[in-house]
Amino acid sequence: MKKRTVVNLKSEELPRSWYNIKADLPFKMDPPLNPATNEVINPEDMMAIFPKSIVEQEMSEERFIPIPEPVLDEYAVFRPSPLIRATFLEEYLNTPARIYYKYEGNSPTGSHKTNTAIAQAYYNKTDGITELTTETGAGQWGSALSYAGRKFGLTVRVFMVRNSFQSKPMRQHMMRMFDGTVEPSPGENTESGRNFLKDRKNFSGSLGMAISEAIEIVLNSKTKKYSLGSVLDHVLLHQTVIGLEVEKQLEMLGEKPSSIIGCHGGGSNFGGTILPFVKRTFNGDDIEFIACEPESCPSLSKGEYRYDSGDSAGFTPLLKMYTLGREFVPPAIHAGGLRYHGAAPLISRLVKEGIVTPIAFPQEETFRAGLLFATTEGIIPAPESCHAIAGAVRKAIEARETGEEKVIVFTLSGNGALDLSSFTSTLEAHRDVLNFDKLRESSIVEQ
Ligand SMILES: *Cc1c(COP(=O)(O)O)cnc(C)c1O
Repeated sequence: MKKRTVVNLKSEELPRSWYNIKADLPFKMDPPLNPATNEVINPEDMMAIFPKSIVEQEMSEERFIPIPEPVLDEYAVFRPSPLIRATFLEEYLNTPARIYYKYEGNSPTGSHKTNTAIAQAYYNKTDGITELTTETGAGQWGSALSYAGRKFGLTVRVFMVRNSFQSKPMRQHMMRMFDGTVEPSPGENTESGRNFLKDRKNFSGSLGMAISEAIEIVLNSKTKKYSLGSVLDHVLLHQTVIGLEVEKQLEMLGEKPSSIIGCHGGGSNFGGTILPFVKRTFNGDDIEFIACEPESCPSLSKGEYRYDSGDSAGFTPLLKMYTLGREFVPPAIHAGGLRYHGAAPLISRLVKEGIVTPIAFPQEETFRAGLLFATTEGIIPAPESCHAIAGAVRKAIEARETGEEKVIVFTLSGNGALDLSSFTSTLEAHRDVLNFDKLRESSIVEQ
């Protein structure tokens, strides 16, 4: 077993607090604005959508926020998650780089989303809420929240982007297994949905539209609230459990990361991974952070940095972020979780400051990287996670060309067993994927 390094933390080593980067930022974040007035939003306005304790957490500047005991108990079902050295992938790529991946696909619903779903369900429950509404792209968030709602006794209603609703029926089964209800978005059950439907070009839907539908239902309700699976500060906060574990795991190995990589949809798995390390760069550590997004929805690489709405109808607070515009309807790519017009304000600002580098990948390159990963490392990655793998592969090839002993760390945000059909065309087109020369010839090494 010389080849394999798997770092498993003990249950007692599960982090007891989330890390809030806002306590350590050398700059002040631009505050969210009220969409009706364009003034800085006050907490009461946010409470039209979110419960009080989530709003407080969203605005908190405390460095460490204790993870409540019932949330820790639920985390213990699947956390701490392993950090695995990708020795077979390294060997295949013939790279001097050491590649590690943090695997979040062992959670009950198969992705990192459970980390925040459990926390959000818990806080809503303790605030007296009985029903949660939400959007879901590929279905991972809807499944995670349905599971968490089931655990804490909340009803969950999910608006699923129509394109994925049709192409990913297994995710619907999973949501229903956990008592969630799921409907396609845009749909006939909300005014926003009916408006979007009038315009047939919106028929495949988008995360932005599904968010509008989910929010419309809860506006000013006392017992129903909305829950967002990414983008906002409190979601990234909950996800820092990933990065805090990675910190301990790398320390146990005596490794210092040179690149930390993640796929980026709204920024939660990426943010959760990098934020504890971003703090270190303020103290002089030299680490590059790479956010991998789809070429067809390149919010961070091609978006504008400005205030925009988080949803298509304009219900959410205005957020200062990189955005393709709230009207943007991304093409129906397989990585449904990355089809979002905006980006987390925290990640956007880190891009603006030059601390995070975004790279946009063509879909084919990500599936080739995912196929390579599955055949070498033995885990079928989610289509979203394939973007992070593609980023790591590019870096590893770069290290091979410069001969540098880099330490590349990436987060494998989810398992792709339920998305296997999205690999079909890649399988057909790239039977030769295991031929390294072919791989090198192809666009995988080009920027
Ligand atoms: C939702 C999802 C993403 C994208 O969301 P982020 O908030 O950017 O992390 C990435 N990977 C998987 C597996 C997902 O389910």
